[in-house]
Amino acid sequence: ARITAPTLPVPLAVGDPPAGLAPALRFPAPDGGGELWLAEGADPGPEMRAALAEHLTRIWRVQEERAAQAAELDQLRFHLAALQQVARTLAVVRGTDETERLVLDSVGEVFFAWWAALYRSEGSEYICRAVRSLRGESVAYAVPARVVHAIAPPGSPPAVPPADAQIRDHLPAGVAVIAPLEIAEGQAGLLILGRRMTEAPYEAHDLALLRALADSSAVALRNADLLDRLRAQATIDPLTGCHNRRGFDELLAVELSRAQRYGRPMCVVLLDIDHFKRINDDFGHEAGDHALQRIGRTVRHAFRTTDSACRYGGEEFALIFPETPKAETVKLAERLRQTIESLAPAEDAPRRMTASLGVAGYPGEGETAADLLRAGHRALYRAKTLGRNRVEVARAGAVAGETEIDAAADSPRRE
Ligand code: GH3
Ligand code: MG
Ligand code: MG
Repeated sequence: ARITAPTLPVPLAVGDPPAGLAPALRFPAPDGGGELWLAEGADPGPEMRAALAEHLTRIWRVQEERAAQAAELDQLRFHLAALQQVARTLAVVRGTDETERLVLDSVGEVFFAWWAALYRSEGSEYICRAVRSLRGESVAYAVPARVVHAIAPPGSPPAVPPADAQIRDHLPAGVAVIAPLEIAEGQAGLLILGRRMTEAPYEAHDLALLRALADSSAVALRNADLLDRLRAQATIDPLTGCHNRRGFDELLAVELSRAQRYGRPMCVVLLDIDHFKRINDDFGHEAGDHALQRIGRTVRHAFRTTDSACRYGGEEFALIFPETPKAETVKLAERLRQTIESLAPAEDAPRRMTASLGVAGYPGEGETAADLLRAGHRALYRAKTLGRNRVEVARAGAVAGETEIDAAADSPRRE
């Protein structure tokens, strides 16, 4: 006997070679009918024939179910592996930029998407924060929040956007699916995926997987935000918004080694507010804090962004000027002195403020950060002893001969 059935991908034949056999009956099988061949002349009779056909059909139906289940298992295994990989990747808390990139890489790879983009809500829009694109597709910079809410509001499952032109016009061209991200209270995000390299549509099980990936991505992004905030808190002074001493030390080390490596000039400026104690004494500590905030803001906004403003401690600030020779730094310091002097008096401390500044530079004032700062302080205290509200420059090689000024620096209020 021999059984043949048109299974995929190749027709199946089980049993003896066809020589000497003749078709005895047909039975329903997936993708067409199957056949039972028996030795020529063998006749099982009508009853047996019907029973055989029924039996064979049942076997083929079971086979078909098994094949479908195997395919589904394959799919689930793939989903599980993808989830495990993404969970492992995102479990390590990283900064926001890196996390955004990892989220796009993971999701893009799992779905074989040509491109993927990550958006974060800002006011009435979603702004693109990161793109991963294999063919260099560019995506819309901003998507109106109302469009997002019409397709996939925060908390809803991923969705395939409708063909509606009103909506499609606001989305990147070639968008295939959109997944909302609930990052934190009042902070929403959006994952947008382009079409797949396999040309396969996003089916229900893909959308379920995407939802799981979007959820763990949202948690990772929330942790990344927290980490960034903690990092900033660790190096930013909360009162003035300037870098704190720790941030300053880190920046100075980086800038100094860069200057040394490339043989470039750089300067530090130390700034101390004149008679600041009197502001506290005359108008109260709170007014003093406000005054510090104003000076901090002035110092931060005075120069181009690569220059770093720090609150060195108390009412003393420090600035780093990379790539800037001393002569130019002195001009900038003088401009800052004038800006502070010309600030309108505050309501809670109606008095003009002034500051004294000391400039020290590399090369000239030594090789280490400590050398530079020592020279800068020496110049600053010279500015104090010479009458305040002025800029003084460290004098190269003046270290040994400055004992007099150093002694004065110990009591800077002696005018
Ligand atoms: P000089 O011109 O010699 O610098 O005089 P000065 O009064 O500014 O100098 P001194 O260093 O003696 O006083 C600094 C004062 O700054 C003392 C301190 O009470 C005040 N101060 C330091 N940090 C803060 C702060 O965070 N808030 C307030 N309100 N005051 C501060
Ligand atoms: Mg002071
Ligand atoms: Mg001081």
